[in-house]
Amino acid sequence: MQRRDFLSGAGVAALLPLGTAQAAELPAVRWRLASSFPKSLDTIYGAAETLSKRVAALTGGKFQIRVFAGGELVPGLQVLDAVGNGTAECGHSAGYYYVGKNLALAFDTAVPFGLTARQQNAWMYAGGGIEALRKLYAKYNVVQFPGGNTGTQMGGWFRKPIKSLADLKGLKMRIPGIGGQIMAKLGAVPQTLPGGDIYPALERGALDAAEWVGPYDDEKLGFHKIAKHYYYPGWWEGGPQLSFYVNQASWKALPEAYRQAFEVATAEANQLMLAQYDAKNPPALLRLAGHGVALHPYPKDVMLAARRATFELYEQEAKINADFAGIYRDWKRFRDTQFQWFKVNEAAYSNFNYFVK
Ligand code: CA
Repeated sequence: MQRRDFLSGAGVAALLPLGTAQAAELPAVRWRLASSFPKSLDTIYGAAETLSKRVAALTGGKFQIRVFAGGELVPGLQVLDAVGNGTAECGHSAGYYYVGKNLALAFDTAVPFGLTARQQNAWMYAGGGIEALRKLYAKYNVVQFPGGNTGTQMGGWFRKPIKSLADLKGLKMRIPGIGGQIMAKLGAVPQTLPGGDIYPALERGALDAAEWVGPYDDEKLGFHKIAKHYYYPGWWEGGPQLSFYVNQASWKALPEAYRQAFEVATAEANQLMLAQYDAKNPPALLRLAGHGVALHPYPKDVMLAARRATFELYEQEAKINADFAGIYRDWKRFRDTQFQWFKVNEAAYSNFNYFVK
């Protein structure tokens, strides 16, 4: 075919995106998205705006998604219910907020000593993760899509240094979820507080320690002004993934072209969030160091005890929760294979470049 032929007639029509002749036949659709997150968490909240903008652009403006911050439409921790019952057609949240319904939902976000962001993506997109989790989410009338990742989180802010496992005894720490359950097994007293309440609790001494996200988000909340000891790694959140939820009936009613637009926009939002964290965390960490923050790795006895307690908890849960057991078996096999691979090549590359002078 000659070039001028390719650029005329049917060849061009096939290459045009929606927005011209094809989109004219598609209906106008307006959805509401309930986010669990405040606008101040710009990297996380922003994923829903990325989705909304891209979906509109891909559909010639016909498929509009209006984003509501946590609390505007429904409280931040009720997004799964709101999407399941159709209060909102879609949402942006984190599966581990809903472990009260089913601990297996934590695999959709992060579990202690679990996957990194890259490994989570491998499990979700190419390792059976999406299929396994969609079966679980169907019980809640929701279709789920990966919706961003923070990368490995930091291990939190401590008013006094932690020298060994014994220093955790009686320590009041803001740490929700399974990480909090493990901390309790190690002798700490875990607390669940929303982001805005952490700083005042640290300031008045109601907390000895608190974890949030990582340098970029933690800096904004100002923990470094009170607790100078910043620990790593956040072993309970090695690569926490956020999720988009869609009501099942709304998804079925959506024209196929809009489903394609939605799905590809979730993948973009998923990738962009991690890129932003990886770009914004290093300068934030340097600024925190400039404020006199001391960085410490968790003591090895804490890490070892935490890992032991974590896998005891998984094995116990697998005995009483069939959903958990089903996902856990495949997830664990995938995790172990990933770790075997990453410890050869990725670890060698990273270790040499980061540590060998
Ligand atoms: Ca966290």
